Amino acid sequence: MPICIECRYPVKTLYTTYSKADDRSLGKGVRLTQCPRCKRFADKYVEHDFVVLFIDLVLIKPQVYRHLLFNRLGQNDERFDRSIIRLGILLVLFDVYLTWARIEKLALPQSHPQLLSLSSNTNTANSLSTSTGIPNSSTSSTEVPTNATILSAQPLILQYLFFVALVFLSTLSFHLPIRFLCSVPPISVPPPLSYLSSLYRTLFPHYPHPIPLSTALLVSSCTKLFPILLIIWEYDLPSSATAVSWAVIVNNVAALEILMDCGYLRAGLLVAIGAGCRGLVAGGILRAVGLGTGGKGLGVGGF
Ligand SMILES: [Zn+2]
Repeated sequence: MPICIECRYPVKTLYTTYSKADDRSLGKGVRLTQCPRCKRFADKYVEHDFVVLFIDLVLIKPQVYRHLLFNRLGQNDERFDRSIIRLGILLVLFDVYLTWARIEKLALPQSHPQLLSLSSNTNTANSLSTSTGIPNSSTSSTEVPTNATILSAQPLILQYLFFVALVFLSTLSFHLPIRFLCSVPPISVPPPLSYLSSLYRTLFPHYPHPIPLSTALLVSSCTKLFPILLIIWEYDLPSSATAVSWAVIVNNVAALEILMDCGYLRAGLLVAIGAGCRGLVAGGILRAVGLGTGGKGLGVGGF
C-alpha cells in the first residue's frame, strides 16, 4: 500500500484519473491525492521527472526516498525491480573504473618480492656510489613502485575481470551483513540471555525484507555516478574518490533510516559494520594477489 511521503500515513492511491480522454503524461486528467492526516499532497513526486528525483536524492530529502522505496520500487518484496538491477550494473561498472584507477596508484606492500629486490639493488648501488663517490642517478629517484607494475604485466581483459570480481564481492560483503543483522527475528530467551537479546534489539532493527534493504542501499549509492565528471575535468582522483565514498555512506545511512524508521544511530551502526566487512574482504583479496592496499585496507570503495 502506498504511503504519504510527508507523514508516512498509508493512502489507497497516490492520484486519481478522472478523465480518460486527456493525456496523463501531460498531467491532464490526474488529481494528486491529499493526505487525510497532514493535508498535503500524498506524493508530489509522481508528477516529477527523473532529473528532479536525482537532485533531491543527492540532497538527501526524505520524501524522495519514501517515494522511491515505498511508492515506486517497494511494490514487491520478493524480487528486485528491473530498474534497480540496471542501476546496480551501472554502479558496478562505475565502481570498477574508480577502483581500478585508485588501486593501480597505490604503493606495493613492503614485503613484496619486487620491492625487496629493488631495495637490495638500491642498497648495493648506494654502497657502490658511496665507495666510488659518483652519485647513481637511476636509483636515487624517490619513485616507489605501485600496483600498476604488477597489474600491467597481466592482459587487460584479466585486469578488468579481476576488478569486476573485486567490486562485486565487495558489494556483496557490504549488503549481506546488513541484511543478516536485520533479518534476525525477536526471540524470547531465558533471563540470563534476555539481556543480550534486548541489547541486540536495541542495536539492530528487525526488518525481515532483504530486497527493499538492498534496494535502499543501491538507490542511495547513486552519488557514485558523480565521478562521470572526472571524464570531463581532471581531478585529483584519490581525494575525489574519498569524498564520493563519504557522500555515499551518508546517503546509505539516510536511506536505511528512512526505510526502517530506526533512527540515525542504528542505521549508522549497520552501515559501519557493512563498510567494515567490505573493507576486510576487499583488503583480503588485494593482499591475496600481492597488491598493496595503501596501508589502510579499507581504501576500496564499494556500494
Ligand atoms: Zn501525510
